[in-house]
Amino acid sequence: MFTPMRPESLFPLFAPIDTLRGVGERLAPLIRRHAGPRIRDLLCLKPSDLIVRRVRHIADLAEGEHVILAIEIRQHSPPRSPRQPWRIHVTDATGGLDLLFFKGHGPHLSGRNPVGAPRVVSGKVERGQGLGEWRIAHPDHLLPPERMAEIPQVEPVYPATAGLTSRTLAKLVRQALLSAPELAEWQDGAWLARQGWPGWRAALESLHNPATPADLDPQAPARRRLAYDELLAHQLALAERRRMQKRAAAPRIPDSAATTAVQHALPFTLTSAQARALADIRADFARGERMTRLLQGDVGSGKTAVALLAVADVAASGCQAALMAPTEILARQHAEALEGPLAAQGLRAALFTGRLRGAAREAQLSALASGEIKVAIGTQALIQDDVAFANLALAIIDEQHRFGVADRSRLQAKGESVHLLAMSATPIPRTLELTLFGDLDVSRLDEKPPGRHPVATRAVPMARLAEIEARLAAAIDRGEQAFWICPLVSDSELVDLAAAEARFEALKRRLGERVGLVHGRLGAAQKDEVMSRFVSGEIAVLVATTVVEVGVNVPAATIMIIEQAERFGLAQLHQLRGRVGRGSRASSCLLLHDPPLTATAKNRLDILRRTEDGFEIAERDLDLRGGGDPLGLAQSGFPDYRLADPLAHRDLIPTAADDARLMLARDPDLRSPRGQAVQVLKSLFDWRAGGPLDAAG
Ligand code: ADP
Ligand code: MG
Repeated sequence: MFTPMRPESLFPLFAPIDTLRGVGERLAPLIRRHAGPRIRDLLCLKPSDLIVRRVRHIADLAEGEHVILAIEIRQHSPPRSPRQPWRIHVTDATGGLDLLFFKGHGPHLSGRNPVGAPRVVSGKVERGQGLGEWRIAHPDHLLPPERMAEIPQVEPVYPATAGLTSRTLAKLVRQALLSAPELAEWQDGAWLARQGWPGWRAALESLHNPATPADLDPQAPARRRLAYDELLAHQLALAERRRMQKRAAAPRIPDSAATTAVQHALPFTLTSAQARALADIRADFARGERMTRLLQGDVGSGKTAVALLAVADVAASGCQAALMAPTEILARQHAEALEGPLAAQGLRAALFTGRLRGAAREAQLSALASGEIKVAIGTQALIQDDVAFANLALAIIDEQHRFGVADRSRLQAKGESVHLLAMSATPIPRTLELTLFGDLDVSRLDEKPPGRHPVATRAVPMARLAEIEARLAAAIDRGEQAFWICPLVSDSELVDLAAAEARFEALKRRLGERVGLVHGRLGAAQKDEVMSRFVSGEIAVLVATTVVEVGVNVPAATIMIIEQAERFGLAQLHQLRGRVGRGSRASSCLLLHDPPLTATAKNRLDILRRTEDGFEIAERDLDLRGGGDPLGLAQSGFPDYRLADPLAHRDLIPTAADDARLMLARDPDLRSPRGQAVQVLKSLFDWRAGGPLDAAG
């Protein structure tokens, strides 16, 4: 990508932190790790709290208050053992107080603060036990009265780290602010005025000089302004990446008669969401630009059929397609779904997994290399070095979040210019979609195939286990099948496994041999064996750790029992529940839990009971968690924003995305006056210029 040179106006912000006064060999590495190597990085630290110091008399003190007191030194009490503090007793006209100085402080305290000297002291007061009724441990300031002005009445608190206190950071930030230049406004003037936001520099000033707790709120105008800057910079980067990807030429794939035939042979008609997704893909295929598309659809929304039809177009055009799934079970199910319909059109598909070995593998590899096999379906076995295609034109990644970026590109690298379709069963809200996948085009399957019964969902206390087992026994006598999920709760896989095994043994005693166990420790072949016995109905109750989470399809399963449901995230519970309700029979989901539930857990279970719409559940999940790493996104390449909070500021994300796309559409090279200012914005938020990770690495 073309990276313009950093504008000169930003040089002061990109100066190394050791150009600040007071930053030497001790502090520099600490700051680099904590904030980053540059002045800019320091300025992106957000105060997390605020100290408001009140001028008081000792008689008016209240526990925990931050105060400024005018006092007189009365008495020094050196420590009697190294673990005791140096104690200075002080008084004002209204009472007495002790100042405590722990290790490292000694006789110099009495030298500098002789008995009888007037002083101003600041710090947090606590109830005392010594001479004074009150005490301050480690005063923030202890100064002669004429230097009182050095004690700030309001001080921002920065997240500190070992060796780097909030006060040191505050001082350095104040110094850094002096070097922050005025920059030409990059935001749209009308938008800025409507929001009532300050300019960039003023916003930065106000970020670091909060006057009241309201200024710490993510919704404070200055914070929103800075968040929007960062979100806009990110959306611009994504929009540009998207444009670059499209620029790569890729084979034009025409709609084919074979695909129409495949579609007609399906035992169902496409939902309109499926038809829309297919139309999106075909429009991409027709354009001659490389497709980079995400197919987002809830569990059971029918992504496989869309993949099948896309693959059929590609294969019928004479090119090859690959479909990669994270597990052997899934790859096998895909192969079963695709092979028949494709073969009926004379298009050969084949399964590649780790189990394919020896002569059989050699034969398939050469049929793939010659182009005789049109569609390769498989696990990571597909990206091994010796797997070669004749003319791969489409790579489909199922359950894409289970793969790393490297895996995806390795599959794409097996052809010249390969269209990419990533499929995800984790419905995510649109705001997050824009953040995570802003560089992709997205099709959503927001509609379930018809004929599904809602899954009756109930929360049941663990105390009713015996009753549940009895009803389960009755259900399997009627020919129903059930999943019984044991959670991963401890850090030790072995402990979790033991819990699952114990449940398995207990259910076997109650229900006989028709109980199976599948968990992450089993080899692929063993897992497959158990799963296929479950699919065939030989096993009626499948006890599982969360391995079944991934899109396995067992239409006959009607009961989902989840132990310790309170331990799971909302999105995960939703995924698990999606394993049932796929056939035509009524299904149920029991969420077992140990009362009492926390308010959040109760809320989560309530939401699940109320709706089966994955997109809505994901949105509510965000609301409930309200922070941290809502959907385990850290691993999915979620940006590490410094100023924006993707949850608190999520209302700004779609606006930033629209703003970025519109701007690039009107002014692709960012040459207009606003465009030029925006280039400065992009450089300002260019973390490749070195963030904390660079420094740590
Ligand atoms: P997922 O999106 O989770 O991968 P699948 O592709 O496995 O979902 O589809 C789930 C089930 O729904 C399959 O049994 C499939 O045959 C069925 N199905 C898919 N599309 C339709 C449709 N339009 N009408 C009825 N059933 C459908
Ligand atoms: Mg699937």
